Amino acid sequence: MLNQEIIAKFYDIVGKENVETNQASLLAYSYDSTPQYQAMPDAVIAPRNTEEVADIVSICNQYRIPIVPRGSGTNLCAGTTPIKGGIVLLFKHMNQILETDEENLTMTVQPGVFTKEINDRALEVGLFYPPDPGSMHISQIGGNISENSGGLRGLKYGVTRDYVMGLEVVLANGDIIRTGGKLAKDVAGYDLTRLIVGSEGTLGVITEATLKLIPQPETKKTMLALYSDLEAAAESVSAIIANRIIPATLEFLDQATLKVVEDFAKIGLPTEAKAVLLIEQDGAPEIVERDMKKMAELCRENRAFDVSVAKTEQDAEKLTAARRTALSALSRLKPTTILEDATVPRSEIANMVRAITEIANKYQLTICTFGHAGDGNLHPTCLTDARNQEEIERVEKAFAEIFEKAIELGGTITGEHGVGVMKLPYLHLKVGEAGLEVMRQIKKALDPNNILNPGKIFVQQHEEESRVNEQ
Ligand SMILES: Cc1cc2nc3c(=O)[nH]c(=O)nc-3n(C[C@H](O)[C@H](O)[C@H](O)COP(=O)(O)OP(=O)(O)OC[C@H]3O[C@@H](n4cnc5c(N)ncnc54)[C@H](O)[C@@H]3O)c2cc1C
Repeated sequence: MLNQEIIAKFYDIVGKENVETNQASLLAYSYDSTPQYQAMPDAVIAPRNTEEVADIVSICNQYRIPIVPRGSGTNLCAGTTPIKGGIVLLFKHMNQILETDEENLTMTVQPGVFTKEINDRALEVGLFYPPDPGSMHISQIGGNISENSGGLRGLKYGVTRDYVMGLEVVLANGDIIRTGGKLAKDVAGYDLTRLIVGSEGTLGVITEATLKLIPQPETKKTMLALYSDLEAAAESVSAIIANRIIPATLEFLDQATLKVVEDFAKIGLPTEAKAVLLIEQDGAPEIVERDMKKMAELCRENRAFDVSVAKTEQDAEKLTAARRTALSALSRLKPTTILEDATVPRSEIANMVRAITEIANKYQLTICTFGHAGDGNLHPTCLTDARNQEEIERVEKAFAEIFEKAIELGGTITGEHGVGVMKLPYLHLKVGEAGLEVMRQIKKALDPNNILNPGKIFVQQHEEESRVNEQ
């Protein structure tokens, strides 16, 4: 696909040192955090600024070369697997925090900044950037915005979308646009910022973002509630919300996950519990005190056999840090870890947990479940082995049933991980054929040559036709 003439054009734009075509580099970018998906790109290119991105995109558009924008590759939907080949675009040189504006409460960043860095920089000036995906130490803001990532604080503070005020985006034809800005109000035309957020690299390349910051909460407390059955934990979640309390964090771990996390983090987690809730509240001290007391009461009323509040900030930090290790800890157990993120209305959390257990039993699979219970966002995680074809077929059937159940309960096939390639076959369940067609038309209008992350989210009409012809 890439000949020497085109590669020479890329050398001219970014310098030879920023274009990699050796097999080792191509292999390193042939996969992401999603198991079972791999495809080789033709080149890996690291532009140094927006103009270079625009020049690269223009050439790709001219020669119909697929572009896969890539942050840290931690997505769990094969979103950065270059399934059509082409170039992988890295943002390792575009990794600066450009400005913290304390008057307008904004931070302007390049796409390659790590999420944790944004969190830390905001805290340094007494401000707060709430989105905190479990991967925040390694994920980049460009990836977060493109997946509209959630995190442990989604229930009270919302998700990445809620903190993106403006973007600079390179379109498929090489044009550079700016959307939104440091504005509390802006209704000038369609909301292109929202369109780009969550578009998984298929509508444009994000080269800059202006993020909203809020005042840092005065104080925070963390509590652990232990249960001898899953449903009691799920019912506590509903009871807390029904009592008009919105905690900053409301995370759920089943026993299997708990044991593995403890084995990994070794902080003395109570592995005898069948399920735990990790609950945090932040805000003014008196409000935090009141809410923690009420939530402890509600957990006990809903059959928690123990409720304990972390005594020090360090103890609290250990608990949340341990929760963040859940996926990494589970991945140590079996060669293949497949994590999903079916999401339901909060009131259906108990039904969904019950259904996941039944489906796991029906297909004789090990499925551990943890997740952002307050958001109704569960991560049923199957520990399996991709080399065992027969078992993988059962895994696929089980997940298809889990998605169908989530939809039946008024939920969705993905709450925060995106569609990518992995959930492409299920998208119609959520948005319907007419909804899919609207998305296809938007894609066609913005990227008529289908060069931006092709084959992700849905299949374009001509891709479908060429697939049929190949068969
Ligand atoms: C251990 C672990 C924990 C996780 N926890 C959470 C969690 O709590 N919540 C959650 O929501 N997700 C979570 N994730 C998933 C993942 O971390 C997020 O989706 C994250 O936002 C991806 O960031 P990234 O930098 O790795 O992006 P990548 O994986 O590299 O890319 C993600 C998508 O963004 C696109 N993209 C990247 N940069 C740009 C750009 N500049 N312009 C246009 N498109 C771009 C890519 O093409 C791709 O479609 C977790 C993953 C792991 C491995």
